[in-house]
Amino acid sequence: MNFSDFGLAESLVRAVADHGYVEPTPVQAAAIPVILRGGDVWASARTGSGKTAAFLLPILHAHQFTRDIARTLGDGDTDRGAGRGPDGTPRLVRTLILVPTRELAAQIAESIEDYAFRMPDRPKTLVAVGGGSIQPQMIALRGGADVVVATPGRLLDLVDQNALRLSSVATLVLDEADRMLSLGFADELARVLALLPARRQNLLFSATFGPAVQTIADDLLTDPTRINVDAGTTPDASAIVQRAIEVDAPRRTMLLRHLLEAHGWSRALVFVASRYGAEHVAMKLAGAGIPVAALHGDLAQGTRTAALADFKSGRTRVLVATDVAARGIDIADLPAVVNYDLPRSPTDYLHRIGRTGRAGESGVAVSFVDAANAAHFRLIARRHHLAIELERLPGFEPTQTAEPPRDPLGGVKGKRKSKKDKLREAAALAASTTLPVTPETDDSDR
Ligand code: AMP
Repeated sequence: MNFSDFGLAESLVRAVADHGYVEPTPVQAAAIPVILRGGDVWASARTGSGKTAAFLLPILHAHQFTRDIARTLGDGDTDRGAGRGPDGTPRLVRTLILVPTRELAAQIAESIEDYAFRMPDRPKTLVAVGGGSIQPQMIALRGGADVVVATPGRLLDLVDQNALRLSSVATLVLDEADRMLSLGFADELARVLALLPARRQNLLFSATFGPAVQTIADDLLTDPTRINVDAGTTPDASAIVQRAIEVDAPRRTMLLRHLLEAHGWSRALVFVASRYGAEHVAMKLAGAGIPVAALHGDLAQGTRTAALADFKSGRTRVLVATDVAARGIDIADLPAVVNYDLPRSPTDYLHRIGRTGRAGESGVAVSFVDAANAAHFRLIARRHHLAIELERLPGFEPTQTAEPPRDPLGGVKGKRKSKKDKLREAAALAASTTLPVTPETDDSDR
């Protein structure tokens, strides 16, 4: 199959060819025809598997179609507040894309530019995110917009200021949908949904979908096509080699420096648990002469944007980030992800390591494990059925062992477990694999 088989506008087919895409990825092959037909989609596919183009290409195709019709029919505008395109026809927000972080919003807007650059009538896209003045976004909206990519909080601010109306939205996309449907965004999402027309297309995309969001997703979607391409599974070893190294916590920065040196990684994305941790580790690496930046929710948006841009362009070698960078961010040629602190949950683990080994590339994901978090690491590994041997590197051997012989549920390793024990274990595993969110570790952009 190739992209022209979908019946997409020629300009889009040529644009993906320009990007070097030879054929659609599995999630694109499954989702594009359904979206073009106007159906609801609930798609889960591994990190880095081309989900963004899977929803953007049909949306851009529909945009071209709508504009062509508007031009053919002439004005006919009953919505007097609408902005207008260059040809005088009204510009109404037809597509709303909601995402959990500002960086992901900016990245999706860039992808729209990338895929739309050959279109005769490119959509006007507004990125509506917090962290900066609302004024420029309000001014930009005076001319209307076709597509809005937003984090929910700023979107609602713009609505409250009467700068934006959502009554013409035809397609709603929730990217990183399980996050958008989670408790943290519940109130804002409910408010946004109430502003949208009841009849609309709903597209949910994510690499993970936990049972907690199932009911909410069912409520939101109308007769959806369910697409599942290896969702919730970690990529195989040909894409991402997963390693775990035992090290005493105070020696982690030394170990990180050693790994950068020993493997000659051109770049590494290093995840930590807190904003303070990000600054602290970045400062230590900078002190060792390594080009490094921190990325977390306490920074001004300009600093955040620059940190990510410098890392993507190779100007900095290490980016020390909280989970604000864990989802969706696409960095080409990223050879290594390091869990300096372990992620809170198996789901977060999957999103973090999925920043490497994308789109057919390969990478390595290294987790630092010490005596205090070894049990948590084992739970993550078990949840993903990973058989990762804990490694010890010469010169970094831990003083306390991270591998007690007993598992955290009391069974002795190697001993046969009864069925009851296994059930108990499964229940405990489900309850215990997620560490609580604290003000220090929560870095979402509500
Ligand atoms: P995504 O999962 O949407 O973040 O995409 C991951 C990466 O795959 C991005 O760098 C895309 O440019 C790339 N990509 C998307 N679709 C294709 C395709 N059909 N062939 C090759 N690369 C692709």
